[in-house]
Amino acid sequence: MDPTQNDKEKKKKTRTETGLLRTYYFELFVNLPAGRYEYKFIIYDRKQDETGRWCYDQSKPHCSDGQGGRNNLIEITDNSPIEQIPDALLLNERSREDEIYHYVDTHCNIPNIMKAIGKEDWNSLYHDVISKDDNIVLDAVISVASDTDSRLGTLQLINSVPNIYGGFGIHPLYAKEYNPQTEIDLIQIMENPKTIAWGEIGLDYHEFGPQFSYAKPELQKSVFISQMKNAINLKKPIIIHTREAEEETFNLMKEYIPNDWKIDVHCYTDSLDFALKLLKEWENLYLGFSGVITFKSAHQLRQVVQSVPLEKLLIETDGPFLAPEPFRGKTGHPGYIPLIVSKIAEIKSLPPSTIYETTRINTRSIFGV
Ligand SMILES: [Zn+2]
Repeated sequence: MDPTQNDKEKKKKTRTETGLLRTYYFELFVNLPAGRYEYKFIIYDRKQDETGRWCYDQSKPHCSDGQGGRNNLIEITDNSPIEQIPDALLLNERSREDEIYHYVDTHCNIPNIMKAIGKEDWNSLYHDVISKDDNIVLDAVISVASDTDSRLGTLQLINSVPNIYGGFGIHPLYAKEYNPQTEIDLIQIMENPKTIAWGEIGLDYHEFGPQFSYAKPELQKSVFISQMKNAINLKKPIIIHTREAEEETFNLMKEYIPNDWKIDVHCYTDSLDFALKLLKEWENLYLGFSGVITFKSAHQLRQVVQSVPLEKLLIETDGPFLAPEPFRGKTGHPGYIPLIVSKIAEIKSLPPSTIYETTRINTRSIFGV
């Protein structure tokens, strides 16, 4: 085979097999000058552990040439026939430098996203819609069911998909759905090991219809209080939804939620003062930011993102709602997280890798995933 032909073949192979980056991790490469490569490498398959988290399977290191074992030393030249070149070396240029980012969408509603997009199962939603970049890996999703309708679908999902976890509660706008039977059901659902939070619960005084046709403030407050008490009794982290009700939300939380409780004030859209007040009062409180931060008019919210420490931020899509720009108005889903991360990176003048890493750690601290 003439060298030019060989080069063409190499390029082709590199292009068609970059998908391998999701599966393999290259531990060590040594490039020698003058077109000769000598390298040692260890390859680990990627697998999901018992909790559904993606990791490298370090128990079975191997090489793609089938020799197996650690510290294989293979020497090839530019003229080596293509068949002798392990896939690993052809991917050399990308594999060592390219970072793989991991993220969790900490708040969305997968059954409602599937309904809106017209997908019947998680696998097709994931492969056809969400997963677009091999280097940005969705580790897990927290699918939050905050009305009676999506509760069953969410339960089926968390029971069948390893890396989908659930939050359950009654949203303030659906406060009318909270009755003794709902309460019994929710308490029972909290025993499911994949249920990682009670929520979203809180107050929403944004008037969608005339005179709080969804739920009047008095009803919202009593339903909020009952759910906070239950969550505390059951030692569950709490997901808060609050909108245009800063003072009353704060006062009720202060009365019922201990200072060390794990709290996610999700899809934060309120003032900077309120954000700082919340963070000061609860040491394990996090603020979740969605695609809203990319909206043109959201100057004040970007100020909040800039002022709040990265160690207190969570990322979420709130799908099917609030798809970020340039997809505003479309169905939101976990695949839009990279756009939210880029915006946070831009606002905070930090590299996206830092945003992925820190928010990933934050997610583990509050939800354990
Ligand atoms: Zn919400």
